[in-house]
Amino acid sequence: MSFAEDQLLPISALQHLLFCERQCALIHLERAWADNLYTAEGNSLHAKAHEGKPETRDGERITRGLPLRSLTLGLTGIADIVLWRPPPGQPLKGRTLAEAIRLAPSLAGWSVTPVEYKRGKPKKNDCDKVQLCAQAICLEEMHNIVIPSGQIFYGKDRRRTEVPLEEAIRATTRDAARRFHQMMELGVTPTARHEKKCDTCSLVEICLPQSMERKSAIAFIHQELSSRRAKDVSQDM
Ligand code: SF4
Repeated sequence: MSFAEDQLLPISALQHLLFCERQCALIHLERAWADNLYTAEGNSLHAKAHEGKPETRDGERITRGLPLRSLTLGLTGIADIVLWRPPPGQPLKGRTLAEAIRLAPSLAGWSVTPVEYKRGKPKKNDCDKVQLCAQAICLEEMHNIVIPSGQIFYGKDRRRTEVPLEEAIRATTRDAARRFHQMMELGVTPTARHEKKCDTCSLVEICLPQSMERKSAIAFIHQELSSRRAKDVSQDM
C-alpha cells in the first residue's frame, strides 16, 4: 500500500500510540495537549539537536532537523541528526552533502545513521526504537539504501546507544503505523484505563482516568441492574 502526500501522519505519534492509545487519540484526534516536566525537557532536547548548521567531522557529514517521509508507512517527520559517511575512496573533501550525493552514482556503500535525541534513559518498551526505526525506513525509501542500525542519545546518560534495526522492530513499526492510520480513520478515542504510567502522562488532568473508570463502573452496575429487572418482569408475566 502506498499513501499520498496529503495522507501522511506524524512519526512522533507512534511513541504516543505505544505509550497509550488513548493519549495518542487525545493528542492527534482531539488536539488536546499539555506539557509536563518530561515533555518540556524532551522539547528542549529536540530543539537543541536541531540547532546549528550541517558540518563535517572526521570525514562524516552531520545534518540536523532533516525532513523525512515514507509513502509506504504513510508517515512524515524530522530527523534530529543524520550521520552520512561516504565509502572509502569517496571522501567528502569539504563538499556539502548535496554536492557529494550529486557526484556519487548512488548512495550504495554509504553508511547512513539516524540519531534520535531523548530525555531520560533507555526505556523498557519500544517507543523510542520504533520512532527511530520509522525515521530509518523513511531515509531508506527516500534514498534507496539500507540502514542496519540507528542511535538514540539519552539525556540522562549523555551518550548514544546503538539500536540494531532488525526485522522484529521493523514489523512493530509497520504495525504501529497501520494502527495509527486506522485510529485516525475511525476517529474513536479509546476509553481510559488507570495504570501506573498515568502518573507520568502529561494529559492526566485532561484524561481523568480514575473518574472515567468510576463512571464506566457505575454505568456497568446500572446496566446490570436494568437487565436483571427486565428479566424479573418477564418471569413474573
Ligand atoms: S492518563 Fe493514562 S489513560 Fe489517560 S492518556 Fe495518559 S496514560 Fe493514557
